[in-house]
Amino acid sequence: MFLPVQTPPGKRGNASLRLGLGLLLLQLLCLSEAMAAEKMRLQLRWLHQFQFAGYYMALEKGFYAQAGLDVQILPGGPGTPKPIDLLLEGDVDFAVANSGLVIARMQGKPLVALAAIMQSSPIVWIVRADSDIYTPHDLAGKRVMLMPAPESAELLITLAREGVDHAHLELQQTSFNPQDLLDGNTDAYNGYISNEPFWLQQQKVPYRLVKPREYGVNFYSDVLATREDLLQQRPAQVEAFIQASLQGWQYALENTEESIQLIHQRYAPDRSLEHLRFEAEQLKKLIMPELVQLGHMNPGRWQAIAQSYLDLGMADGPIELDGFLYKRQLATDHSLLYRVLAGALLALLLLGAVALRFARLTRKLRLEVGRRRQAEQELRDSNLQLERLANTDRLTGQWSRLKIEELAHNEIKRAERYGFPLALVFLDIDHFKSINDLYGHDVGDCVLTGVAQRIKSHLRDSDSLCRWGGEEFIILMPHTDLDQACLIAEKLRDLLAAEPLTGTIGVTASFGVTQWQPGQGLGELVHCADLTLYRAKKLGRNRVERFSPCAILPLV
Ligand code: GH3
Ligand code: MG
Ligand code: MG
Repeated sequence: MFLPVQTPPGKRGNASLRLGLGLLLLQLLCLSEAMAAEKMRLQLRWLHQFQFAGYYMALEKGFYAQAGLDVQILPGGPGTPKPIDLLLEGDVDFAVANSGLVIARMQGKPLVALAAIMQSSPIVWIVRADSDIYTPHDLAGKRVMLMPAPESAELLITLAREGVDHAHLELQQTSFNPQDLLDGNTDAYNGYISNEPFWLQQQKVPYRLVKPREYGVNFYSDVLATREDLLQQRPAQVEAFIQASLQGWQYALENTEESIQLIHQRYAPDRSLEHLRFEAEQLKKLIMPELVQLGHMNPGRWQAIAQSYLDLGMADGPIELDGFLYKRQLATDHSLLYRVLAGALLALLLLGAVALRFARLTRKLRLEVGRRRQAEQELRDSNLQLERLANTDRLTGQWSRLKIEELAHNEIKRAERYGFPLALVFLDIDHFKSINDLYGHDVGDCVLTGVAQRIKSHLRDSDSLCRWGGEEFIILMPHTDLDQACLIAEKLRDLLAAEPLTGTIGVTASFGVTQWQPGQGLGELVHCADLTLYRAKKLGRNRVERFSPCAILPLV
């Protein structure tokens, strides 16, 4: 049963998609559930015994289940309505009947014969071996038991064929008790070839059988039947039931002992294994699996059987057997196809749902990775910014005091390790305060920036310029000794003094030059340079002074 899947117009949201998928899955589950177990009821015509072995084996060996059928097997016997009546009432879906089935059909009952398990009827007369009864003719004047019509049809036809008049017989209603034969209450007991003879053997009573088959009466027995409406509505299930049942019969006949043990354990515990073995042996002769295809039915034989019933007056003509014999439906059984399609669709939907989920997760993950990368980049940028701020002097753009301390420490280490010369120049703008005073602080700032740029543009790449504070600068010169540093300082001094920086404002600066000595730290090195610078100031400014231990005495 399919439920309608409705998508709200215009909405393509996740929720509706999920809802749609959910409903579809539910429908598919319902569909496969419905197809998974077709419940079927089979009515037997007597108590559980080997007579129905094929059906038990079809159930026990899973042939019904494999065919998608959930079959219930119901025993018959005294007190149970006739299987055909139960079938017509709709209480069961299949029934095991005798040839009397065709009478009901001729009466217009919608019955269909599906398969005849026994090619010959098991009904016989049983007489005592010490009687003088050998043929149907010998029954004349004897007490003869018969089952109610149509069960006794084979026996009655035998009498008719042999020209034995009923009037010459003392007919008795069957007692269903073979003890009557032993007790002398009857001369010919009607029974089944597979049952009462076993009982007589056990009683050690010799007996003889008068078999209709030996007089040309060949009725089908144990015919599997169903109703026309069921066949029309569920042809695939009917066909599946027939095939699984015949498979069960095949198994039972090829594995008789296993089947007997199973029937004894599960269905007929009151019937001894010996009895079941006897029954199996007798019934195999009637099923004739080596000669006839299991379940085979011949229209001509059914015609003859129907004619026999007519002749006996048990049925009314005309014989019209169209639709009575099951013809395999040529219509394709779509149930398997539907099941495969449903399975494939289900798998596809699940796969689609998984793929959708996977795609969503991937997209989410990609977005997340992008976000994190961006955040990391921003963090790196802001760290760089912070580093730049910490390392750079904001006004002049040169290294800050913090940075030059780091650079100087590294250079001192290298000088210590490799013995490279390392020079440090300390310079201070002369009378800078007066520039501020004269032109204002902003102009002072421009002068500071201009001095820094002019110096920087004439330094080597390996040199580092730093604003130490106020109007004081430090130049660190790796691989440079005192003489070389003094020469460079002189050039720089000259450069500054040579032409004004902005407009008419010219500046000069004083320089203190020193060279790192082994064992010296940065503080000492700067201190020496500062003292030397102080000396330059004292000596008149706009000059370069080189450090000398003797010359650092303060000048008065
Ligand atoms: P000397 O020749 O002895 O070095 O004299 P001086 O005037 O250069 O030295 P002093 O130490 O007396 O004055 C330094 C002045 O530098 C004082 C201060 O206002 C000024 N100054 C320090 N930092 C800045 C700055 O960032 N911008 C400006 N415009 N002026 C600054
Ligand atoms: Mg100063
Ligand atoms: Mg100064």
